[in-house]
Amino acid sequence: QLVLVTGVTGFVGAHVAVSLLKKGYRVRGTVRSMEKANELVRLNPDLKDKIEFVIVKDIVEPDAFKDAVKNCDYICHVASPFFFDKVDNNKTQLLDPAVKGTLSALEAAMNEPRIKRVVITSSFVAMADFSIDPYTGYNYTEKDWNPVSYEEAVSTKDGFVAYAASKKFSEKAAREFVKEKQTHFDICTVNPIFVFGPPIHPMNSMESLNTSNLIIWNLINGSKVQPDFQQFQVDVRDLANAHILAMTKPQLSNGRLLLSQGSFTTDGICKILREKFPDRKDVISEPTDVPFNEKHYVLDNSYSKSLGLQYYSEEQTYVDTALMLWARAKQL
Ligand code: NDP
Repeated sequence: QLVLVTGVTGFVGAHVAVSLLKKGYRVRGTVRSMEKANELVRLNPDLKDKIEFVIVKDIVEPDAFKDAVKNCDYICHVASPFFFDKVDNNKTQLLDPAVKGTLSALEAAMNEPRIKRVVITSSFVAMADFSIDPYTGYNYTEKDWNPVSYEEAVSTKDGFVAYAASKKFSEKAAREFVKEKQTHFDICTVNPIFVFGPPIHPMNSMESLNTSNLIIWNLINGSKVQPDFQQFQVDVRDLANAHILAMTKPQLSNGRLLLSQGSFTTDGICKILREKFPDRKDVISEPTDVPFNEKHYVLDNSYSKSLGLQYYSEEQTYVDTALMLWARAKQL
């Protein structure tokens, strides 16, 4: 069966493609240029002749995926703008590409009778209420929605709030679309928190790493930033497998899957990595004993586990990520 993966040269998209191939699916990936596609294959020689590439220069353009979707059985719509710095126009840089890109994928699916389900990579930020005190012990589940309004999303000066809104409104638009058009396919969103894991996609520099991996990179690149941050995380390989679960589980028809492997403190990451790599202590930040604040909100991963998703151990994630980050830094 053939799966269209949008944004296959991105951090998450590349892993989704790898997981699908491992499970025996055929993969067609959308890329903005063939140079980037070639770079993905150069970095991962195992992918040679395994992925079919199709150019979609801008997901916002009408009919962006019209040809790309031909003969596909599923779509994993991963591509979406993912940045919060240097945002001058929330609407054109974040909200429009996210919402229109998602609708474009669904429009294309309308014209391909083979499509059974469209999986959309949403985010925990589409669920979280960032206006409330994080230290209230709140238990987030698949039922929660970020309360941000569209007006606030357009006018806010905070790029993160606008990005979070772009994820919420694209998810809402997709659910609305399926209801209104009575589509022959259904959808499911996957909603990951901070994604860590080995980057296997093309990058120009270590500074262009995705925000979550940048947290780990800054702890192990010799800059010795003081660890003082806590949050929840998911391994990119678990996230990739979750896309397949979201594609295939009947009970996830028009469903939502909150993804979290567990909590982390940057302090704890340093401790584990210093223990695992004693010869690298000169570049790994020194722990300062910042315990996880037990009143921090929590992410309930019981639904994903009940559907059979198995998560990597945190230790494995940090070790694999650190090794790959050091290796990539050497090459760049
Ligand atoms: P990346 O920036 O690495 O990947 C995004 C992909 O989307 C890239 O392939 C990019 O192409 C493509 N893309 C973005 N805008 C356009 C556009 N206008 N036209 C065509 N292609 C476009 O980010 P991630 O892989 O980390 O994120 C993937 C998804 O996961 C996003 O939907 C993000 O919101 C979600 N997510 C990520 C989390 C994380 O911590 N990484 C956490 C929660 C959700 P190109 O490579 O050419 O720039």
